[in-house]
This record gives sequence, C-alpha cells and structure tokens, in this order.
Amino acid sequence: MLPGLIDAHTHAVIGGLAALSPNLQDEELDIASVRQRVQAWRDETRSDADRPLVVFGVNPATWKNPQALAEVFDVGSWMSQPLLLMGSDLHTAWVNRAMRAKAGIDAAYARGLTASQRHTVGVATDGEPNGVLVDAGVDLVTLQLPKPDEDLLLEAGKFAVRANNRYGITAWMDPAANAGPGEALFARAPGSTGTGILPAYRALAEAGGLSAHVAALLVASPLSDAADLERLNAVREQFQGTPNLTMPGIKIFADGVLEYPAQSAALLGEYSNSGKRGEMLLTRKGLQALVDAADARGWLVHIHALGDRAVRESLDAFEAVREHRDSGVRHSITHLQLVDANDYPRFARLGVIAVMQLHWAEMDNYLLDLVKPYLSETEFMGQYPARSLQRQGAVIAGASDWPISTANPWEAMHHAMTRHGPGGGLNPAERLDKTSMLLAYTRHAAQAIGLADKIGSLEPGKQADFIVVDRDVLEVDAESLKQTQVLETYFAGVKVYAAQ
Ligand SMILES: [Zn+2]
Repeated sequence: MLPGLIDAHTHAVIGGLAALSPNLQDEELDIASVRQRVQAWRDETRSDADRPLVVFGVNPATWKNPQALAEVFDVGSWMSQPLLLMGSDLHTAWVNRAMRAKAGIDAAYARGLTASQRHTVGVATDGEPNGVLVDAGVDLVTLQLPKPDEDLLLEAGKFAVRANNRYGITAWMDPAANAGPGEALFARAPGSTGTGILPAYRALAEAGGLSAHVAALLVASPLSDAADLERLNAVREQFQGTPNLTMPGIKIFADGVLEYPAQSAALLGEYSNSGKRGEMLLTRKGLQALVDAADARGWLVHIHALGDRAVRESLDAFEAVREHRDSGVRHSITHLQLVDANDYPRFARLGVIAVMQLHWAEMDNYLLDLVKPYLSETEFMGQYPARSLQRQGAVIAGASDWPISTANPWEAMHHAMTRHGPGGGLNPAERLDKTSMLLAYTRHAAQAIGLADKIGSLEPGKQADFIVVDRDVLEVDAESLKQTQVLETYFAGVKVYAAQ
C-alpha cells in the first residue's frame, strides 16, 4: 500500500479531450499514412463542412516538410475544409490554407510580425505562411475553434479522472485551467477573463465525480501586471468552494520549446543552425514584477522554462522576491530541459521546486532529430539534469505533462531511473533512484501543488488517499516497477477504482 500518487503538472481535461478526439498518438508516420488516417476521420465527421477538423497527437517531425503537407491538404475538397494538426507537444501545429484563412494568417500578417514574434508562424520563401505554427501562432488558430460543448468537456473530465485513478493518481496540478479550445494559452491577452476548463472541473465535482484533488493554476499573460492578477482573482472567486478543487496560483510561460523548427526556448548559448538564442516571453523586469505581485498575494508561481536562460531568469525573479519577502510559498519551475550548472544550487537556496517530466529523459526522435543537431555535446548531455539538481539539494516533483506524454507515473519512474526508453539512453549519470521517484510522486509533488498539509504521505491528520499495488515496489527492479498494476485506489477513504 502506498499514498495516492500526485502528478505535479498534467493537462488532465485536455488529455481526456485529446483521447476522445481524432488522435495520431504521436506515431512517426509518413505523409501518405497521415493523409489516409486524417481523410478517414474527415469522412466520419463530414456533417458540418465548415467546422474545423482537429487532429491531436501529431508527431512534430511531420512539420519538417510543410510543402508535402500542403500538397495533400490544400487540394480538392480540403480547400474548403479547415484542418488543424495539433502537435503532440501542444506547442506546435500545422494548419491548412482553409484554416489559415479563418485565422487571418496570410502573407500580410506574416510581414507585420515583429522580430520577436517571427518564429510563431512558419513562412515559405515566397513570403506565404507555410502552415507551421509555434506557441502564440497556435493560439491564433485555437481562438477560432468552436468551444466544445459542456457535455464533451464533462466527458473529457470523467475520462481524465478514470485514467488517473487507474494509475493510482489521486491528485494533480492542472497548470492551465483558464485555457482550452476557443481560448489562448501561450499569448493570453492581459485582461482576458476566460474560465477555460474550470466549469468542467466544477461540473465534475458537483456530480460527485472528482475523485482527485485538483490544484488548478491560471495562466497569466506575459504582459500581466498586478491589476491583471486582480482580474484573475475574479475568475478564481467564481470557482471558490468547489469540492476537491483548489486554485493556488498562476502559471507563467518564460519561453517555448527547444525542438526544431520552433527553437523558441531561451538559451544562454545559441542554436547552431541559426545562431539565435530563442526568445524570453517576458522582460526581466516584467517577470520579476509579476512573480512579486503573485507572491505578495500568497499565490504559488509555476514557471514553464526549458532553456537555460529561461531557467536562470526565473530563478533571478524568485531571488529578487525572496530578498525582501519570505512568504513561505513554494514556487516551482517546470520542464528544465537545460539548466546551467551554476544554477543547480539556487533551487535549494530559494526553496524553488523542480517539477520534472522525466519520461522525457530518453533518446526519442524529438531529441535525436529535432534537438541534437542544434546543440553542443555538453548541452545535449546535460538535458534534464535530475541527479545534479538533487545532489545540490533541489526538491524534485514528478509530472507527466499529459497528453504530451503518458499519464502513467510508473513508466515515468522507470525512465527517470534508467534514463532509457525504446529509442535509447540519455546520460545515465543523471539517473535517480527509486526512493527519489516515489517521493517525487508523493510528498514532493504534494509540496509543489500546495497541499503538503493534506496529502502526500500516510499519517494521522492527512486525507486517506491510498493505493494498493500488485507488487512490492520497494523490492522490485526498475523493469518490474514499470509494469506495476494498481489493484485499488482510495480517495478520502472511499474506493474509487478497482482492477477487474
Ligand atoms: Zn504543460
């Protein structure tokens, strides 16, 4: 028996929605196969021709040749059928010409972009957008999608609870609860008061179906200030009192992702193909002011940072705040693909939790094809430096980023312990041991989501969230740990899942 597991960063409702939608499951497919699968979904859903067809889970290597996609999806009947191929990284996408027309993405739009926005829309040599979208570019399109009806979001929420309870997860942090189809994620306008997927969580809770603690964060705009936090607080207040739902703070995007062609993660060095360093989405001053304003409210700040420059500037912001206020709030940085060695000890010193998706610490095609060619060997080997951070005292919490990778924590623990997946190994010196991983998904994750007083360990006074598993996880090796089956999951002392 173990405490219920905790996922410190999962887009659970979007994961449910993606699972219930057309989904290519991140498979690496040639264009002909993509065409065949997408065409079949189109034939099934032809009822409303103008309604965009959205396909989730598309492997981003698919965008390496946008011209080939255009030759398939900008001809014949596709000329009037908007299509969005959503990357399995949720940061990149490809859209056909009909979808670009709906979103106003054309040559004139591309010409009007500032230097810092230019990476958000891919452009062919003739100046026409080629359909590849990154971060804020993806927002342009998601803003055009019809909001899914409430029933579908409720179904997605139910799917998410079932899937998580089945893996033994009884709590999670949803880092973008005010985003969803029809609302911007990466470039939320300051002042926007969208409620995203919060109504789905509330409906689920009111129907008695939320058998997990959900710590829901609101995404702040890169341009947010103290006044904007007041508007986010108004969103928050609408959902106060929802059973099992807490709203401990905000999420900030400091940068984007490292993969080619996006290369939007902010590096201390340069991408070798372009000589560019990626983009910070906020100024140093803006980031510090925002972190300060949130900390002053007692809100937890969870920063998305993949590049080592984004990590450093995030730590700088936390340090600036801690110099004049010790609120006791445990802030966190998530993803942490590259971290400069000089910054390792700062996590412990500042009490900043490292929320890591260690399922990614393997040599898959993302790293081999889309990252490795553009980094130095030292940078490449230093990715996801879990053991180095731990050695310098950092608290490491476990997370999936589902649906970007599987919600299964046993697989993530295996990757963290072996640094090995189907595609090969990534720097075994950064392996963590089993105890560290069990702590990462229990006590440490509880700290990261602001519920350390209530969950994360089995002791008097905490809630009775616990699981029964089919093997002695303290005795088995990593291969066996990966196969762990949860037999029963209990939430607040009530059995909410039992294996058949
Ligand atoms: Zn995420």
